[in-house]
Amino acid sequence: MPKPFDVIVLGLGAMGSAAAYALAQRGVRVLGLEQFDIAHDRGSSHGRSRVIRKAYFEDPRYVPLLHRAYDMWRELEQASGVELMRLNGCLNIGPADHACILGARHSVEQHGLAYEVLDAPEIHRRWPGLRPDDDDIGLYESEGGFLIPERAVKLHVDLARAAGAVIHTGEAVRRWIASSGGVSVQTDDGRYVGGQLMITAGAWLANVAAEFHLPLRVERQVQTWFEPKVEDVFTAQHMPVFIHFLADRAYYGIPMTKNEGMKVARHHGGRITTADAINREVTEEDEVDVRSYLANHLPDANGKLLAAQVCMYTNTPDDHFIIDRHPNHANVLIAGGFSGHGFKFSPVVGQALADLAIDGRTDLPIGLFSIHRLTA
Ligand SMILES: Cc1cc2nc3c(=O)[nH]c(=O)nc-3n(C[C@H](O)[C@H](O)[C@H](O)COP(=O)(O)OP(=O)(O)OC[C@H]3O[C@@H](n4cnc5c(N)ncnc54)[C@H](O)[C@@H]3O)c2cc1C
Repeated sequence: MPKPFDVIVLGLGAMGSAAAYALAQRGVRVLGLEQFDIAHDRGSSHGRSRVIRKAYFEDPRYVPLLHRAYDMWRELEQASGVELMRLNGCLNIGPADHACILGARHSVEQHGLAYEVLDAPEIHRRWPGLRPDDDDIGLYESEGGFLIPERAVKLHVDLARAAGAVIHTGEAVRRWIASSGGVSVQTDDGRYVGGQLMITAGAWLANVAAEFHLPLRVERQVQTWFEPKVEDVFTAQHMPVFIHFLADRAYYGIPMTKNEGMKVARHHGGRITTADAINREVTEEDEVDVRSYLANHLPDANGKLLAAQVCMYTNTPDDHFIIDRHPNHANVLIAGGFSGHGFKFSPVVGQALADLAIDGRTDLPIGLFSIHRLTA
């Protein structure tokens, strides 16, 4: 009879890979189970880049976690020699009275972060690829930039393995049972027992924790890369990451590091679906939508479509995360509902989960992510 595991991690995307590493690093016997392979393109953590920023328009309460996340990304880079984060600046563009511009301002002011405010002509003068609307302003933070997600997920899993974690890929969990004595997990290949279960199943969370109804909405999101007509202005040396808030929608852009094209995509506004039913084909409608933005605001990037990928947001009603214990099982932890902005936090989420599993508590400020706000 093999020795049981201390913790079984269900799903090894951004959060599960970070949690497996945080646990293994602290000497916990970890089994990580992933239905696909590591750093696959069917969940929420693929697409070559993810924005990281501190002028957090969503809520200033995320800023302390962001400080910790930046430190952890740097520590990971130093320990591994792998580049994960590129800080080429982040520009929030929109009308001065837009809720998100006000939100970003609120975060920088409350937390004393460095930022600049620019008017529309100044934005275009500094970064000629960008054409904001006349009444737009820019809130620029030099500490913003982007992460390389597939590399980060793979590194977390490699480090977890090196620290002793057992990792099974291509093995979907079909059922799990928790009792006061521990947890038991059934896959197509076998049954595993452990002390605790950590559910980090991304857009599949609703399937995996189906016995109580979390109000989650899986949203289809398309990422697209375009060949610029003028190359120089769209490289990460010459342009920051940006998020442009229009009256009824938002788009973001991540400049080129290699000749992969300028990444431009819409933030939210996608079809509500499920992880199993989602249309993974990129349609003409998807392309038309983003091109209408490019034509008005980044005309020199409106070239050939080089690549496109479908991804998923798992939204909670208030767009805040869930990081908590399962309401009915003290030995089951859940991290999900990252609502399209979780990636940058993945090492911190891994740390918080490891703290909860090992110490029963964490010093990290995760009160905002209580599951009870959604199940009450
Ligand atoms: C287009 C797009 C752009 C984004 N941009 C940003 C950004 O700029 N900045 C940012 O911070 N965040 C961003 N996000 C959000 C961020 O990427 C996600 O919040 C984060 O990746 C979610 O990680 P996760 O671990 O919850 O999900 P995933 O990485 O999808 O991991 C869940 C894993 O669980 C596995 N799994 C599920 N069910 C089972 C099962 N039964 N058995 C075994 N394995 C299972 C899945 O296969 C998957 O690998 C973006 C997301 C998308 C889609």
